[in-house]
Amino acid sequence: MAFEDLYQEIILDHYRHPRNFDDLSGVSEQEVYENPTCGDSVKLVVDVDDDGIVQGIRYNSKGCAISVASASLMSERLKGLTVEEALRRVREFVQILRGESKDSSLEDWGDLIALEGVAQYPLRVKCATLAWHALEHALEKAAGSAASGEKS
Ligand code: ZN
Repeated sequence: MAFEDLYQEIILDHYRHPRNFDDLSGVSEQEVYENPTCGDSVKLVVDVDDDGIVQGIRYNSKGCAISVASASLMSERLKGLTVEEALRRVREFVQILRGESKDSSLEDWGDLIALEGVAQYPLRVKCATLAWHALEHALEKAAGSAASGEKS
């Protein structure tokens, strides 16, 4: 009970004060993902430096508390990782929420644990994973451009 209240608090806090939120005006290349069942939308850009480190995840999201909070929590959690590690985490998170990864939980994911209960509600899983799908695509592009560059 107390934990549920705490998780609710985390989600509402990130919904009201989304971290790394950016209007992305003037950014031509961005991922745009929508979840029509709920009316959520997210635009997202990932900033990767020359060493393949995720320096920042900026997004502009609209929709329900879960979709916005999930994007916010994600942008904090995955910053500073390599593109490969971030991609691995993104896929793991989606698997956990879909219940496809029985052995893992969000226990080691910091405040993202607040979203664990969402796994019980398939429609809400779409809200929670929307920004993650956008990030996955952005990271795949970043990984692809790094691989095609001169990487010795
Ligand atoms: Zn939603």
